[in-house]
Amino acid sequence: MIDTHAHLDLPVFDGDRAEVLARAQEAGVEAIIMPAISPEGFPKARGLVEESPLLYRAVGIHPHAAAEADTAALAAVEREAEYPRVVAIGEIGLDYYYADGAEPRQQQWLFREQLRIAKRCGLPVIIHNRKAGADVLRILEEEQDGSLRGVLHCFSEDAEMLHRALQLGFCVSFTGNITYPKSTLGELVRHVPADRLLLETDSPYMAPQPRRGQRNEPAFVRWIAQQIAELTQKPLQQVVQETTAAARALFRLGLVLIAAVGTLSAQQGTPRHQFAKGFGIGLHGATNTIVELREFSTQEHQTFSYEGLPAFGAHLFYEFADHFSLELAYLYSRNTKVLKSPQRPWGQDNPDIYQVVELCVHVSPNPYGRVNFYGTAGGALMFNRIQERAEHKRALTVGIGLRANFPTSFGMLVPWMEWRLDFALGRERRQVHLSATEQRPADVGFYLSLPRIGLLWCPPW
Ligand SMILES: [Zn+2]
Ligand SMILES: [Zn+2]
Repeated sequence: MIDTHAHLDLPVFDGDRAEVLARAQEAGVEAIIMPAISPEGFPKARGLVEESPLLYRAVGIHPHAAAEADTAALAAVEREAEYPRVVAIGEIGLDYYYADGAEPRQQQWLFREQLRIAKRCGLPVIIHNRKAGADVLRILEEEQDGSLRGVLHCFSEDAEMLHRALQLGFCVSFTGNITYPKSTLGELVRHVPADRLLLETDSPYMAPQPRRGQRNEPAFVRWIAQQIAELTQKPLQQVVQETTAAARALFRLGLVLIAAVGTLSAQQGTPRHQFAKGFGIGLHGATNTIVELREFSTQEHQTFSYEGLPAFGAHLFYEFADHFSLELAYLYSRNTKVLKSPQRPWGQDNPDIYQVVELCVHVSPNPYGRVNFYGTAGGALMFNRIQERAEHKRALTVGIGLRANFPTSFGMLVPWMEWRLDFALGRERRQVHLSATEQRPADVGFYLSLPRIGLLWCPPW
């Protein structure tokens, strides 16, 4: 189970937070998302998620804190969104019920600005709504450009509002309120598709019926799952699986976990920079020059090169810390020149084929810049076909390059150029064709010189 909404950073949990988290884990809660109220709470929340692997954060300004919010506070939210384990912008929204609340106009401005932050950061939103459903949905509809995702938390509107929220692509979650005897929300719960329904407690508020009036906590989320199972007439296990999958998909928790492993090697608590790339996939092309170093039995040496051979391939990229990334690349190149030159080996009908799988580390001294310079080094395996013979080789790879970062709404686009050398290890005895009539055996070593260009795409998660 995932409790997608619990204010565990509030002082009411200061005395026994560790026990609360332990009870949640015992109850089968595998992740808890802790929404923010205002930027004043960010440092505390940051510390808490570093201490517990169960906790994730949302960052934002709650409508209850809207009165004091200004553009500086919004900038603080956007900066905070760069921290590890921040999975959403929230909670944000409108509350026309709260007695000390800001003017609706101020609330709406703040809500809209934070929706835009979410779109810029590629994060989902957690929306609070009380007695403001019409305005919440109107603003969401105005801001929905296809990239806005999120959840209407503590849903307590009517069927028409539910329909509009689902139409917008949003998820909904219900709290302990569905367990109250007088609740009329049961009918609505049945109408939410399984992949749009999330669990939440809204701890410390809204404790479910068995504990109504007491302090709520994430372990109680099981009563909400049970109530949904009864209302939808599904087995409890199915409700747990479906809501967990829906929460994982919306908040991309699986990927955050993998990224978190990477950030362990980075400094704890430092923000990911604005051009952070995470995972990426890309294509590249190169002109390959094969430089052969030939040593004849007469101790004579000769260097010979085949130039300008086309090469292309694909690569996977993973930025595991600020200055460091891993690249796994595949490159394919054909040497057709062996057929055309006067050095053509007799009897060879097919071009030589070079296939290289490279695994290397990139080190960038300036990962925060729009343009990053980097050096790269690693190992490679070559699966070549040379003079009609299969030849497997290990190789060392080194390179230098630069890349430019372009954040877009569909992720980071990173065009790059690099000069890379792949040195094959060891030498092979080959027939070297010195002219159309003369061939001599030689020990041949070689390297590939590959000026290459590529385009890397890092999805926005
Ligand atoms: Zn709320
Ligand atoms: Zn809340």
